[in-house]
Amino acid sequence: MNIKPLLAQTPFTQLRFRHYQIHHLLLPYALYTLCVIPIYLFFIVSDIHHIHVDLWLVITVKILLSLSCVLILLILRKRAPQYLELGEFILVFSVFASLTYVAQLAMIFGDEHYQSAGLLALVYVGSLSRMDFTKSFTLLTLMLLTHLVLISSVKLNQDFANAIDNLTLFIAVYFVAVVGCLRRWSESKKSFLKFTQIRNQQLALRKNQQILSQQNQTDPLTGLKNRLFLSANLARISSSADTLTVLMIDIDNFKLINDTYGHPFGDEVILRVAEVISQYCHGRNKIGVRYGGEEFLCLMIDETAEHIATLAERICNAIAQLTWPIKQLNVTVSIGVSPNTLHNSDDFKLIEQADEALYQAKKEGKNRVIVYSHQQL
Ligand code: GH3
Ligand code: MG
Ligand code: MG
Repeated sequence: MNIKPLLAQTPFTQLRFRHYQIHHLLLPYALYTLCVIPIYLFFIVSDIHHIHVDLWLVITVKILLSLSCVLILLILRKRAPQYLELGEFILVFSVFASLTYVAQLAMIFGDEHYQSAGLLALVYVGSLSRMDFTKSFTLLTLMLLTHLVLISSVKLNQDFANAIDNLTLFIAVYFVAVVGCLRRWSESKKSFLKFTQIRNQQLALRKNQQILSQQNQTDPLTGLKNRLFLSANLARISSSADTLTVLMIDIDNFKLINDTYGHPFGDEVILRVAEVISQYCHGRNKIGVRYGGEEFLCLMIDETAEHIATLAERICNAIAQLTWPIKQLNVTVSIGVSPNTLHNSDDFKLIEQADEALYQAKKEGKNRVIVYSHQQL
């Protein structure tokens, strides 16, 4: 739209707002600086003083522009936060360019006051904005260039001394704003580095804690999980499973082995038995645990009764077939199996039942597997 006929017909104070309306120029400011909106609206006081025609139109346009500005920034923040800085850059520059353009128009009417309005945009970039340094510096320099082209070039011809004053003030504010941006940028970089450092330390600490708690829950001799693991995790394992079955495995006549061949050899026996157990009890749904001295558990999650019985028999046989440096030695285990039903709320009951079945296996002559049943025991 050609603005010249309008310029010829209407006084500047009205034109200034028509200009905004016609060109859909959005007024400032960025989301985090919404306080700028009330400041902008505060200038309605000056409008009431200056504008005698179409005052309500001016106020309505101001309020609508403020609302659309907030809305755009809110949408950007929610939908495309990566463009928020760019959006702020474009908005602030559009506002500055329009203010400077209006200031140039005002000069035609001999109104010099509007030339200072653009300085507010520089102050905004230097203090309230959170744009990175490159964007802030580019924006401030663009503003300076716009001022030089639209205001200073015209003013220098009209009133040299006044033009120099105006330019000096503008350049001074420009430098203060650039230094402000630089300081803000270096401070935010420093605080970001500190934040990253603390975050990394927290992550390392958490990892160490995990390692430590893993070590705490592992038996140092066999590498199997220990009783601490069981008390910390049994409820969780059980609640996430449909069925949970416990195999309790106990080395037969271990005291005799210990007494006959010595404690270190006893340890060696425990270690090799544990190796067999972990061969059969590993993976996603089987967990091998050293329950105590020469007693082990194998937790079976969502396994069929047939598979459990077969596996228990295999463990029993595999251990019985182990060969030892002492020819006459025959190490065997007895295994008690808890019932493979839908798990009940008392998980430790399963261990008790496996223990009862184990007791029965010992009673029946050892080196065997007994599955818990109410009738049998
Ligand atoms: P049963 O066939 O009825 O199970 O008899 P057992 O001799 O195996 O059972 P008992 O509970 O009488 O003996 C277990 C022994 O295991 C007693 C204890 O000194 C020994 N023991 C416990 N922990 C360890 C260990 O870490 N290393 C060694 N070498 N011996 C241990
Ligand atoms: Mg034993
Ligand atoms: Mg025992």
